Amino acid sequence: MLKFKFLGANGSCQDADCGNTSILFTDGAGSLCIDLACNISSVVDADIDAVLLTHEHIDHIYALPSLLHQLWLTGRTRPLTIYLPAGLDPFVNGMIDLFSIRSKKNIFAIVLSHEEQFTVGGMHFQTFKTDHTPISVGVIVEEGGRKLVYTGDSRPIPAAPEFMSGAQVLIHEASGLESNEQTLIQKGHSSAADAGRLAAALGAGQLYLCHLPRGTAAKQALLSEARSLFPAAHLPGILTEYTL
Ligand SMILES: [Zn+2]
Repeated sequence: MLKFKFLGANGSCQDADCGNTSILFTDGAGSLCIDLACNISSVVDADIDAVLLTHEHIDHIYALPSLLHQLWLTGRTRPLTIYLPAGLDPFVNGMIDLFSIRSKKNIFAIVLSHEEQFTVGGMHFQTFKTDHTPISVGVIVEEGGRKLVYTGDSRPIPAAPEFMSGAQVLIHEASGLESNEQTLIQKGHSSAADAGRLAAALGAGQLYLCHLPRGTAAKQALLSEARSLFPAAHLPGILTEYTL
């Protein structure tokens, strides 16, 4: 059974109780974390099998060196695979080399992979291109006949793409309100209304909003906007375990 847990759900700016968007997936047979920012202890505790990094922006990747360091300090010996879009290698290798991580004594193998489809435990992952940066990706997660779509950072997805159809859960960024749509699009992002519209078009069961602004009031305003278009919209509980 696939479980997922938000380690954070904010955009670039953190709240005390909500760090940058990153999501841990487990199914009892394997585990994968999408992006690395806050609450790295949860990733270490999961004895993570693999990491997927979606793009080059700071809030999505800055904790990678710390994860590798913590895994090494806690005695990891088996390889760690980092799935990443082609073009992200210089950022990843740069962070690893800045801290000389590959020269640590008995460091485990750090494997970079550009595979766009792969399996971890019983979970199948398929990345797809998003309209955010030239290399950014989102991901489809499938396990036991269930399907989840995470858009990653993205400008609005205008119509429900065929490859997303059948998703029970949509995790969609909501960087602001529709009244700021033009500014959001300029910055490569989308609104809570965009998230609600896509969830409705897909016929999804649940919608979780992420990449949120700071502050409770701002988050609640986004939730209201999304719910006006898709009632089963939620703000994620941080470190709450959800089952797909
Ligand atoms: Zn971004």
